[in-house]
Amino acid sequence: MMSIDSHSPDELIRKNHAASALVPSESTLNNAIEKKQFALYYQPQIDLPTGEVVGFEGLLRWKHPEQGMKLPETFIPAAEETGQIAQLTHLVIDTGFKFIEKLSQSLSFSLNISSQCIKDNHLVGTLDHSCHEFHIDPQRVVLEFTETATLENPVQAEDILGQLKTSGFRLGIDDAGTGYSSMPNLGRLAFSELKIDKSLVATMETSSQSRKSIISTIELAESLGIATIAEGIENSLEAIGLRELGCQYGQGFFFARPMNETDTLRWLENWNKTLSLPI
Ligand code: C2E
Ligand code: MG
Ligand code: MG
Repeated sequence: MMSIDSHSPDELIRKNHAASALVPSESTLNNAIEKKQFALYYQPQIDLPTGEVVGFEGLLRWKHPEQGMKLPETFIPAAEETGQIAQLTHLVIDTGFKFIEKLSQSLSFSLNISSQCIKDNHLVGTLDHSCHEFHIDPQRVVLEFTETATLENPVQAEDILGQLKTSGFRLGIDDAGTGYSSMPNLGRLAFSELKIDKSLVATMETSSQSRKSIISTIELAESLGIATIAEGIENSLEAIGLRELGCQYGQGFFFARPMNETDTLRWLENWNKTLSLPI
């Protein structure tokens, strides 16, 4: 029943970027925000043992009128530099919450929080307010931080993560397995999920080092009583291998590419209709 989504691969979009790799200026980004050129795409997250959809990660896209679809790597660093990442994050919160309000209460929504946003005093208030506005239980929301983000600003990070936790949000580490420096902090900061980085998944069949890193990340998560999710699963071998190693959830092109709202709803309906053990 496993279907490979037929949307144009992100790699093609990436290639098209070569000609338009200019860093966007603050005014260009402002113009794009005003003209509503940013769109949120959704990629499903799957419970590996049962094949059930458990949630979606929101991934930002820029629908540039001349250059076509632009991936986050072409505008997120610039938005972080100018501070406009705060505005974009608020846009992701509103768009994503509005979307999951329509879905089953059992489905979660993960969003990426840039290290810059750790300094955003309005983040917690915006999240609380949007939960209220769209009737979202904060337990359905997973805020993905990178390890580096929490390392760069440890005091501010601990403060804001504590506030988010108190508000009821779930916290995740996005690039787990790529470095262990802040791992001892994990328990203290009360993360509830570790996401195994796609670079490790891509090399798990060929590199014993990657496999070891995946295994120790899963062991660490188990010892802390928190969930593991692997990203970048591109084939059944990786999905089965990760499931056998005890990884609970998976995300990747093997299940579906990031999709716009309409395609996500269609995909979800079809997936739920045909659900059987996927691998
Ligand atoms: P991430 O949060 O680690 O997201 C996973 C990336 O892996 C996404 O790239 C996704 O399209 C890609 N991916 C998913 N499945 C597969 C697969 O099977 N194989 C491969 N090779 N790649 C896969 P994308 O959408 O280009 O996003 C890249 C990064 O940009 C994200 O990495 C995240 O760090 C950042 N980003 C995306 N949206 C946002 C946002 O709204 N806010 C912030 N602050 N950062 C964002
Ligand atoms: Mg992420
Ligand atoms: Mg990641």
